[in-house]
Amino acid sequence: MGSAQVVRELQHSRNGVTVKTEDGCVYEANYVILSVSIGVLQSDLIAFKPPLPRWKKEAIEKCDVMVYTKIFLKFPYKFWPYGPEKEFFIYAHERRGYFTFWQHMENAYPGSNILVVTLTNEESKRVEAQPDAETLKEAMGVLRDMFGPDIPDAIDIIVPRWWNNRFQRGSYSNYPIISNDQVVQDMKAPVGCIFFTGEHTSERFNGYVHGGYLAGIETSKALLEEIKKERKNENQTFLLEPLLAFTGSLTLKQTEPVSSLQKCDIPTQLYLSKGNFGISEAIL
Ligand SMILES: Cc1cc2nc3c(=O)[nH]c(=O)nc-3n(C[C@H](O)[C@H](O)[C@H](O)COP(=O)(O)OP(=O)(O)OC[C@H]3O[C@@H](n4cnc5c(N)ncnc54)[C@H](O)[C@@H]3O)c2cc1C
Repeated sequence: MGSAQVVRELQHSRNGVTVKTEDGCVYEANYVILSVSIGVLQSDLIAFKPPLPRWKKEAIEKCDVMVYTKIFLKFPYKFWPYGPEKEFFIYAHERRGYFTFWQHMENAYPGSNILVVTLTNEESKRVEAQPDAETLKEAMGVLRDMFGPDIPDAIDIIVPRWWNNRFQRGSYSNYPIISNDQVVQDMKAPVGCIFFTGEHTSERFNGYVHGGYLAGIETSKALLEEIKKERKNENQTFLLEPLLAFTGSLTLKQTEPVSSLQKCDIPTQLYLSKGNFGISEAIL
């Protein structure tokens, strides 16, 4: 599939998945690994046909989505304290989370004259909904409150919009403290031929990059196990064929040609040959 295609529909059955993209392409697959974020799963960007079962939908709904926004402000020169052990400063305001956490970029990017302020959840959503000029005005008000009226105006601002980005719909998952293991188990459990992965499916490291990375490995292994099981069953059926043919009551002959997907199933072939299962390539 092309790198910039947007998946809009997953039609699934016991026999496989049909993936439809926004630009009208249709792909057939035996299995699919779905790695979109928890926020995207909670949105209607991808239609599941038939709809996901209730237990899956409930797990998706039970997991909270955090919005975490780092706003970058560039200045003509530094006016904040910097040097060893001076990287962060905190602003206290009666409104909770109002431009609270500040960090300068001098350690990472010396001479960049950039400050970063971190906003979360409701404050993130609020600034996403307003023009950047308004956010800049608010941030400057806070900085002047801390450093006095003479500091220069920022010359540039970047306000990421993780909440309004339809491919993210938030920054990362946050399982409520009261949720139990079953929620994560349901979150990562496959639905037929659709396997789920991403940081939100990681039991230990959800919310983190390495959670996403490790979940990807785990999900691929689970899928390969599933394929191995399926192939093993096919193999058993294949071995039974002469016996069944002898009874004359049933035939298991494959009448349809092998699909191109099966012919090109290189990862499966490698995986099975590595495991020395002795299943010939011809029946893969
Ligand atoms: C501001 C911010 C700071 C963070 N800081 C840290 C940190 O310091 N440390 C840390 O470990 N983690 C941090 N995280 C979290 C980290 O970025 C995530 O945990 C990680 O990106 C999750 O990876 P993922 O592969 O599960 O999902 P994603 O990175 O969300 O990947 C999913 C992909 O699916 C694509 N997609 C979505 N819908 C569709 C569709 N319909 N069709 C096709 N493609 C689609 C998206 O474009 C995206 O590329 C931070 C996140 C944010 C936003």
